[in-house]
Amino acid sequence: MIGRNSLFGPVDPAADAGYDDHPKRKGFFTDTSVCIGCKACEVACKEWNDVPENLFEMLGTSYDNSHSLNANQWRHVAFVERPAKPPVDLGMPSMGPGGVAVDAVTQQTEVAGSAEDMDFRWLMSSDVCKHCTHAACLDVCPTGSLFRSEFGTVVVQDEICNGCGYCVAACPYGVIDRRKGPDGADNIGIAQKCTLCYDRLTEDQVPACAKACPTESILFGDVEELRQTANDRVARLHEQGVMDARLYGNDPEDGVGGTGAFFLLLDEPEVYGLPPDPVVTTKDLPAMFNRAGMAALALLAGGVVSFLGRKR
Ligand code: SF4
Ligand code: SF4
Repeated sequence: MIGRNSLFGPVDPAADAGYDDHPKRKGFFTDTSVCIGCKACEVACKEWNDVPENLFEMLGTSYDNSHSLNANQWRHVAFVERPAKPPVDLGMPSMGPGGVAVDAVTQQTEVAGSAEDMDFRWLMSSDVCKHCTHAACLDVCPTGSLFRSEFGTVVVQDEICNGCGYCVAACPYGVIDRRKGPDGADNIGIAQKCTLCYDRLTEDQVPACAKACPTESILFGDVEELRQTANDRVARLHEQGVMDARLYGNDPEDGVGGTGAFFLLLDEPEVYGLPPDPVVTTKDLPAMFNRAGMAALALLAGGVVSFLGRKR
């Protein structure tokens, strides 16, 4: 049933979907400030979920060879080239010879020394399905192929999807897509995206990308705890002078009710190819149905009045 608040505003998505007794909502916090662009997360995702190879061609505009999220790329690590800024210590974990942790100040000095001659910097960010609190893809799916899991995530069932593509147009982030190839791959024509490793979650395991990330740029866990971790991390970076650090997707009052996968960014969302102010595309459906219902009632009343008038 479409309620006043069921397509917009803060809710617990699993409870809203009818799970009475469910685990805490699970999600990702991706801290792009410690991403080194190794792409281990992309590879781990492909291996675990049996996602076929992408084109892997250099575009000539970036060193990124996997281009964007799509049906064959459920994690995508963007390489964004930006003008250089004075280097600051981002608190990245690092080890010296013999496994001895390198002091953060030493690390900062080393980074400063190597960066002095560079007139650009890399922003690296591992993007993924946002597992929205209000997921338009799920709202418009006519077959029930997309479903809300007990963990509050959004999952596709390959065997039920009929490939109509309504979800593709509905997603405000351009995440979900129908698989177009390569020839011989499974699920050609079927909508595909990150499932937040639903099969691993049911076995109490961490999603493959988070497990593979060597810098803990991708953190997996209870969304509430991750939000606190994210807030603490931003506060710490601000104290260290990284004033561009900001969170994206973690506000339950935003246009999609907050996302289950949110990000710490070091620049505007647009720089990373993310919409600055996404709104769930089904937000206005209840109002539209109400108006359509009122119009139908008015039409019916007009017909009755005209019929009675003619009888006299
Ligand atoms: S990001 Fe797009 S595909 Fe992912 S849950 Fe939200 S609407 Fe659906
Ligand atoms: S595995 Fe971690 S560090 Fe490597 S690209 Fe992915 S998010 Fe970045």
